[in-house]
Amino acid sequence: MILLLEDDPAIADTVAFALRREGFAVEHRAWLAEARERLRVAPAPELLILDIGLPDGHGLDLCRELRAGPLAGLPVIVLSARSEEMDRVLGLELGADDYLAKPFSPRELVARVRALLRRARGAPAPAPGFVVDGSRVRLDGTPLNLTKLELGLLLKLLAAPRRIHSREALLDAVWGTSADSGDRTVDTHIKTLRAKLREAAPARDPIKTHRGLGYSLEP
Ligand code: CA
Repeated sequence: MILLLEDDPAIADTVAFALRREGFAVEHRAWLAEARERLRVAPAPELLILDIGLPDGHGLDLCRELRAGPLAGLPVIVLSARSEEMDRVLGLELGADDYLAKPFSPRELVARVRALLRRARGAPAPAPGFVVDGSRVRLDGTPLNLTKLELGLLLKLLAAPRRIHSREALLDAVWGTSADSGDRTVDTHIKTLRAKLREAAPARDPIKTHRGLGYSLEP
């Protein structure tokens, strides 16, 4: 979940919409006091987007408080109406991880959020366009309606993009070692998975067949 602290309703709506479209869960607060209250209870957000000028105080005060408390590791992106160098430097010195001056493009913000979360999770760069949230996967913002086996195959391929997975390895990972299904089973489910990916994003065809070897996901 991403906590968005922004008092301008138009900006908050735009940012929340852009993030939700990419599959992120967003909670919005407009006041510092509300955000402080939210940050005291579980579950903690994965990332905070913080406006500087708020009706009941300065966003950077919250940033400083966070860095001294149990949420010291929470990634923070600061939004400022002023693009002065001073704000930027101050923001970064007070522990913000990134900084965007208004007006900014929602796309730019989403890209920064992704980069920051990736860094925070220490995960390898995933395939662009895919957003995994538990057992739900979105491609270019469209939720994929996958069977359990299709999901298993996709997650396996997503875990190591560009790597060629043999049919045996995929069978093993998704069906389990006791499965007596043959290679054709993998092919069948890859085929239906492909059709669903194509439906969500017609221009892409991310699953590549390697004749005699297996499959890979090419972002
Ligand atoms: Ca503001």
